[in-house]
Amino acid sequence: MTVNTMTALAKSKPEEGLWMINAPVPEIGPDEVLIRINKTGICGTDIHIWNWDEWAAATVPVPMITGHEFAGEIVEMGSNVTGMSLGQRCSGEGHLITTDSRQSRAGNFHLDPGTRGIGVNEQGAFAQYLKLPAFNVVPLPDDIPDEIGAILDPLGNAVHTALSFDLLGEDVLITGAGPIGIMAAAVARHAGARNVVLTDINADRLTLAEHVVPSVRTVDVTREDLNDVIHELGMSQGFDVGLEMSGNQVALDQMIEALVMGGKIAMLGIPPGQSPVNWNRIVFKAITIKGVYGREMFETWYKMIAMLQNGLDISRVITHRFNVADFAIGFAEMKSGRSGKVVLDWT
Ligand code: NAD
Ligand code: ZN
Repeated sequence: MTVNTMTALAKSKPEEGLWMINAPVPEIGPDEVLIRINKTGICGTDIHIWNWDEWAAATVPVPMITGHEFAGEIVEMGSNVTGMSLGQRCSGEGHLITTDSRQSRAGNFHLDPGTRGIGVNEQGAFAQYLKLPAFNVVPLPDDIPDEIGAILDPLGNAVHTALSFDLLGEDVLITGAGPIGIMAAAVARHAGARNVVLTDINADRLTLAEHVVPSVRTVDVTREDLNDVIHELGMSQGFDVGLEMSGNQVALDQMIEALVMGGKIAMLGIPPGQSPVNWNRIVFKAITIKGVYGREMFETWYKMIAMLQNGLDISRVITHRFNVADFAIGFAEMKSGRSGKVVLDWT
């Protein structure tokens, strides 16, 4: 290759902001590929890193090229890499795993305790080129465009959470209509849930949700009582399954109250610090709670691509598209709390 430097968006100082830098193009090892990045998605995690909050300051070493939601194409392959070709369009799993843990050796790669994240612990995807283990590459079929490829990571969070429990014919409550909650609502409909109710306290987010998934019943919990909605929809006892996607304590409490006896909760939202919960209610309602982290490698990726090819449409969750030169505007849109997914173009 003749190009040895690239532009990248990095946390280059331990303070608020991200900076466009020149960085060396990563050198790949025998089991890795080099991906030329076409599109990237801005994630809530990237906002934490931009803001340099307590979590980011304690977790992210400086300097660090950020970003983990991407689509691009393979431009170089290590000597051990087989089954791929130059020019192959791809996205990929941003969680880098070890293969020697008990969990990995049992095939549960997403539960590997040694997991490291690109754009957080390792150099990331907000760059012209990304180095990735070939193991992590997910080829993109021709009918999945790059901008959808760039949001497969958060769609994967939605799919992993939503498919944690059987949804066919069930009544599903989703708390938090952020991009992931909205995509989870689309997945729950696709997976055959009877009623899908999506709550938020932000009217803009609920309007976007109705635009992306017209068949979802949105509830602004600052204005409407969830019990009234349960009656309106003819549910005699409450919701069978809850998908927590707000990270908010009040939402989790509301979910526990709105669930049937024996209901199930898949919890993706990350509560800030310790978060008091009424354990009595959980025990006496015999509720099952499952924590969800990342995506299953690679069953979630397989299922989401299959669903996208079979009518799942989440494209309208992308509300803003910018050239990477305008990244600061993209981040401002994300920080406003009104946007859906914001996609940056690197081509
Ligand atoms: P987001 O912040 O864009 O969306 C959260 C939404 O919850 C917001 O629209 C907010 O208004 C809403 N909300 C706040 N209080 C509420 C309440 N009382 N009731 C209902 N809604 C309320 O986040 P996102 O990017 O869509 O991600 C969803 C959650 O998942 C976040 O907590 C994020 O940190 C977490 N997450 C977890 C993983 C994981 O692997 N576990 C991965 C990605 C994201
Ligand atoms: Zn993300």
